[in-house]
Amino acid sequence: MNNYCNAYFKVDMNEVIRNYNRVKAHIGPDTEILPVLKGNCYGYGLIPMAKLYTQHCGARILANAAVCEAVQLRRAGIDCSIVVIGGIPQHLLPAVVEFDLQCPLFDAVTARRLNDLAASAGKKVKVHIKIETGMNRLGVRPGQPLDELLNLVKSLDNLEVTGVYTHFATSTADFYDPFALEQFQRFQQGVAQLREAGFDPAYIHCCNSAALTWFREAREFSTHVRSCTSILGHMSMEDGREPIGLVEPCEIGAYITNVHDIQPGESVGYSRAFIADRPMTVATLSFGFADGFYPGWMRQQGPVLVSGTRTRLLGCCMDQSFADVTGIPCQIGQKVLLVGRDGNEQITTWEIEQFCENTFEYLYGTIGNRVERIYSWV
Ligand SMILES: *Cc1c(COP(=O)(O)O)cnc(C)c1O
Repeated sequence: MNNYCNAYFKVDMNEVIRNYNRVKAHIGPDTEILPVLKGNCYGYGLIPMAKLYTQHCGARILANAAVCEAVQLRRAGIDCSIVVIGGIPQHLLPAVVEFDLQCPLFDAVTARRLNDLAASAGKKVKVHIKIETGMNRLGVRPGQPLDELLNLVKSLDNLEVTGVYTHFATSTADFYDPFALEQFQRFQQGVAQLREAGFDPAYIHCCNSAALTWFREAREFSTHVRSCTSILGHMSMEDGREPIGLVEPCEIGAYITNVHDIQPGESVGYSRAFIADRPMTVATLSFGFADGFYPGWMRQQGPVLVSGTRTRLLGCCMDQSFADVTGIPCQIGQKVLLVGRDGNEQITTWEIEQFCENTFEYLYGTIGNRVERIYSWV
């Protein structure tokens, strides 16, 4: 540890590789993984995870949601195919061309603009036609709107249709969720239209982590699955069903900076947010909401491991937090775990997700740079 940080987020890189291979085994040899690196790779760290996927997992194409993250990867020397799967503000289309990014296409304005930019640069831009099937976020509806777009694209020499995709709105809800089945139908219709129009996209993708878990038909119809959650070893189904055998690869910890006793009626923190009803021992911890931790985690007294014993947080300030360490031997300077295993006790990400009633993307995607990322290869 050398970044002078008060808290850390440690990733077991070998476990991520094993998860990648577990997902691969689950989806079979005919479908590839298109790793999604959005939101700083859900807090895991953009560039190190991109390097892991390309150099150690065999990924040949990566997905970002935002152009800025794709550009960061390019500047870090990542030269494989990169597709931006999120909506792109028009002013960033020149960057798509400059940095050789693939991008979504679902509207005529963007098609013409991209084509002009590519022509000026003497390049062809690779686009993935995004089919609107029910998420109503980005996409062109199958039928006449798609036909019109495809006709336009045929007339634009500097666009190359390299992919087609859609995104499920409800695949996390249940295996064979009926709305996901409907969306898949519409997607198949869209892909059939592309083929009838003479396009033969190399990338066909619709499954996220939840869908790749259960939606065999959609997987087999596709060339790629888009995954972040599963390859990071986290739960994608809302009910925690996880048939792949994934293992969580992260540990989140901080340090005790003070230990003190308080009497009944004494309070802890701003606004006297916590008031002791009995003699207690309180530890002050070296992290706070300015580190990007989800506030409800601390404020609603989430779990924490101190000396291998499970206890609770008592509150949180901007840079410091409190834990109840009554009866737990501990001292200034020692480590505490928000997530991870210490002795026989473990706090899993899934437990925190249940506790916060939110998925880990929300809990980890906001963890900031002040929390040192440690990439462990042991
Ligand atoms: C976030 C996202 C994914 C990845 O989802 P996971 O469930 O984390 O695997 C895939 N596709 C799109 C369009 C996304 O927005």
